[in-house]
Amino acid sequence: MLMHSVTDPADPHERLLDACCAAIERGEIDVLFQPQFRIQDGAIVGAEALARWAHPIDGAIAPEMLFMLAAERGCVPQLTRHVAHRALAVAAGWPDHLRLSVNITPADVAAPGFASDFAALVAQARFEPARLTVEITEEVLLADVQAAAAVLGKLRALGIAIALDDFGAGFCNFRYLKLLPLSGLKLDRTMVEGIADDPRDLAVLRGICAMARALGLVVTVEGIEMPAQLAAVSGESCETYQGFLSAPPMSAADFAQLAAQQR
Ligand code: C2E
Ligand code: MG
Ligand code: MG
Repeated sequence: MLMHSVTDPADPHERLLDACCAAIERGEIDVLFQPQFRIQDGAIVGAEALARWAHPIDGAIAPEMLFMLAAERGCVPQLTRHVAHRALAVAAGWPDHLRLSVNITPADVAAPGFASDFAALVAQARFEPARLTVEITEEVLLADVQAAAAVLGKLRALGIAIALDDFGAGFCNFRYLKLLPLSGLKLDRTMVEGIADDPRDLAVLRGICAMARALGLVVTVEGIEMPAQLAAVSGESCETYQGFLSAPPMSAADFAQLAAQQR
């Protein structure tokens, strides 16, 4: 009788898993930068680093899929390290007023020594910690929020900002706002989708912004695609935004050029 092998090389998923780990090891995961703009005057204030994997056969693999594959093979810490290392090297060449945001995962936060390894990476790149934001999504923190708070607290103590990513995308755990050493909230694009034409959506956004202000959190709005959405958030206490309306994720060279045009 034929047994299904766990590492069957003919299995497309297994092939993708192997290719993912090999691509991480070979440093083939690319990093794009999505500009972040100040709402008040449209100035570029920084960029978020976003991983990209161009599979030789399957083409572009979505970053969510990339991180799922990496998680299955236990190589998320290597992947995060690679993206952060590459992004920091690029951002070290930016003018001082520009900030960098990088995404981290629960697997990173749970890895022993993460805070000190990450701090060493930042120091090695000679990037000012006060110009760096670490983004973490709320859904993934559920496992051990106290432990996550302790690790993130170490980064915060170095001057690194901590933003809760995709806020409002799913089940909002407001306890996190109290327990985690946050400096900002990133509102998920689902929170701005309807604000231009549904007063209830705008009311929810307004309420969240008021709460963030009361907690001293800086608010970044994601997924601004239409001028009417930008106009709607302009009236609220949100500081910055990202979105296809103004700029998609782009190469390091394109970001540098765009930022230079504004100077
Ligand atoms: P995220 O951190 O919330 O990143 C923002 C995502 O929204 C990006 O998708 C970006 O391309 C997309 N986006 C930006 N503006 C708009 C817009 O106006 N409309 C719409 N519809 N989408 C917009 P991307 O690059 O596909 O990344 C998806 C997610 O994958 C990220 O969401 C993040 O959670 C994860 N990810 C990407 N790179 C990394 C990474 O290096 N590390 C980790 N841990 N996660 C990453
Ligand atoms: Mg993010
Ligand atoms: Mg997000």
